[in-house]
Amino acid sequence: MKSLLLAFLSLAPLAGQHKTLEQLTQEVPLIVAGQVASADSFEGTDGEIYTRVRIDVASVLKDDDGNSPQQLDFTVKGGQLGDRVVHFTDVPHFETGETILLLGSTNTPEESIDLAQSSGRAALNRIRQYRQDAGAPNNEFELRRLQRFLDRTSTMELDATNPCSAFLGPKWASPSAAYSLGASLPPSWAPAIQAAAQAWSQGGSSFAFNLSSTSPHSISLADLGAGTTLASTRVEYFRSSMQLVRFTMTFNNRYNWKTSPQNGTFDIQNVATHEFGHALGLGHPSASTCAEETMWASAGSGEIKKRSLEAGDRAGLVTLYGASSTTPPPPPPTTIPTPTTSYFSLVSTNPVSTRPITLVFRASSYDPATVEALLTGGVCGTAGCIVRPYAISTADLVFINNYQPGTYSIRLRSTSAGPLGAASSFTVR
Ligand SMILES: [Zn+2]
Repeated sequence: MKSLLLAFLSLAPLAGQHKTLEQLTQEVPLIVAGQVASADSFEGTDGEIYTRVRIDVASVLKDDDGNSPQQLDFTVKGGQLGDRVVHFTDVPHFETGETILLLGSTNTPEESIDLAQSSGRAALNRIRQYRQDAGAPNNEFELRRLQRFLDRTSTMELDATNPCSAFLGPKWASPSAAYSLGASLPPSWAPAIQAAAQAWSQGGSSFAFNLSSTSPHSISLADLGAGTTLASTRVEYFRSSMQLVRFTMTFNNRYNWKTSPQNGTFDIQNVATHEFGHALGLGHPSASTCAEETMWASAGSGEIKKRSLEAGDRAGLVTLYGASSTTPPPPPPTTIPTPTTSYFSLVSTNPVSTRPITLVFRASSYDPATVEALLTGGVCGTAGCIVRPYAISTADLVFINNYQPGTYSIRLRSTSAGPLGAASSFTVR
């Protein structure tokens, strides 16, 4: 079999499953390839957007119930109304005209895979291989029909800058998003949720999640049904700007959640890190080589590997929000330059007896923020007095002081720890 360059850049075809494609292939009663004949969104009585979908079935790869469907009709959560788009990461997404592989039952789609993507073809090959390995009937007629359908309907897109980075499409306008912990979330979950958000805040871009009790982007625990969904993130954005404006995250209370999981229970931080990836705009990579990524669509019980980000997760984050402006390392200790004095004048008659007295240095190689002068002699003695510039013009350092009578020597230095420059002398009577 030809090796495929794997990539995926459309709205998540693999939903928020905790099952692998192979597990789903085994468990769903129906797998078909077909075309989305229509996908019409409407606002439900609850104010949420829903989409009525019709699929024209071209080829049936698995049909446990013997329905031989020609057409599938169902309604899914999410969709587009005008400029407003709502997407649930656990619900397949459908676009009119799309060529897809659908796994589920006649009225409940569990996964929709875009066959115009090379990753979609790779998923199709995984399913066929799995069915063949499992001794499922290998229907040559159906496979030939499927191939004709694919030849006719879709050109495969190869796009693999990083095959393990996938995107929902929209992103936040500024590299940050707040979130709050909903009332339904047990307080004991907070550290795991915060650690999950932190993984992305420290993921190598300037993006940060911030916990804020007033944020509408809430995280909750609710009944998402007995299907295959561990958790679901709902994102809302505007198609014109492709800017995310809202997200909410829901954990399914049908599962046994733990902060340190054993077999049969699910790790909160593991799944939360994955869902936060959706909340900032990442989708599911589907190349089979990406199974270790945090954004990989399926998660097992007892699993904690999604707590930390992998290369594709980080690359996706940086693609969306840019690399973090690297804080420059502290400069290596250098010798503090000695100010070079090219001119010195006592702006008064010399010797002077009227005070205050103005001194002007023309100097270079000094730090205007820290430059000072050491005055010795007169009342300052050998220990000296420190005087700071009264003003610094483009080139001149101006010292004005009420000098007491005496003969003085004055030397500049860049900082109080720096070496002293050449001495200039003056006398005050
Ligand atoms: Zn997901």
